[in-house]
Amino acid sequence: MDKKRILVCGAGGFIGSHLARELHNQGHYVRVVDQKWDGYLPEPYFSDRITGDLRDYGTAYSAARSMDWIFQLAADMGGIGYITEKAADIVYNSSLINLNMVQAAKHCNARIFYASSACVYPNYKQEDANVKPLAESDAMPADPNEAYGWEKLFSEIVYQSFARDYGLDIRIARFHNIYGQEGTYEGGREKAPAALCRKVALAEDGGEIEVWGDGLATRSFCYINDCVRGVIALMRSDWTEPINIGSDRLISVDDLAELAIAASGKRITLRHDVSKPQGVRGRNADLTLVKKVLNWEPVIGLELGMDMTYQWIAKQVKAK
Ligand code: NAD
Repeated sequence: MDKKRILVCGAGGFIGSHLARELHNQGHYVRVVDQKWDGYLPEPYFSDRITGDLRDYGTAYSAARSMDWIFQLAADMGGIGYITEKAADIVYNSSLINLNMVQAAKHCNARIFYASSACVYPNYKQEDANVKPLAESDAMPADPNEAYGWEKLFSEIVYQSFARDYGLDIRIARFHNIYGQEGTYEGGREKAPAALCRKVALAEDGGEIEVWGDGLATRSFCYINDCVRGVIALMRSDWTEPINIGSDRLISVDDLAELAIAASGKRITLRHDVSKPQGVRGRNADLTLVKKVLNWEPVIGLELGMDMTYQWIAKQVKAK
């Protein structure tokens, strides 16, 4: 592949830091921008670095200037606890970032990737744990999950409008529960795989951990390296419509917890707290389109991915 000048927005975060590292390893010029750095993207994994707030258009424009490609992954986001409690902050902050980055991409004539979410899919198609996998065309009629999902869908429409009216070169992926090392695992923004690994790592052998909900809700989970490979394949392709990047292996929350427990080698029992938010009852990804268009599918199994994630989180917890 020819070498590009690439901006990764949100490169201090989970997916952005892995993506920036991979693009750097492929030999591209990689500029990274975030408002904070947690140490997961050290030198030399970027070419230049901007620390700034992308809600400010001047910062967004300076970051985008002279770039060929922009990956827009900066967002105010978190797991189900965070997105149910912080709706106003999420829609305000993430909308501003997304609006600024699409305008900056237009001004700088760059191709832009937008990180959307499975949360755009309607609640009425996710009421059963044994859910039918969600295909891209299922997003309408709209009834997304939480304000977070509405903002994601709104921003998809903004990016598509810029493509239609100004010829902006866009790519949109809908991520389904990406997990792995170096993701948020504490502090309230963590998602289920990381939260379960942390709880297991902190528990005594023979102890118990709390699981939110009755443990029977279902999801699918995609390992970070598979996600990064899919994102780069999408950006290199000609496909401009929203496309799923995730896994189609459905698993209950309890069974996911058991994978974290197996990785730990401990004997641990589950205690359910049904007062905690659970999100939709079931969600799975239909990968028909992405397999056909990008020849992509995840290859890292959940047992291996959860084991690697658990070992990393256990190490962090132990080091505290
Ligand atoms: P993350 O929270 O780890 O990373 C987001 C980054 O954006 C953070 O480092 C944060 O500091 C940065 N950011 C937030 N506000 C900013 C601002 N005003 N200016 C500059 N930087 C700012 O999240 P992630 O898991 O890496 O997710 C990346 C993208 O993928 C997000 O758009 C998210 O909504 C989307 N997504 C992720 C998942 C998942 O499972 N992780 C699922 C669906 C969609």
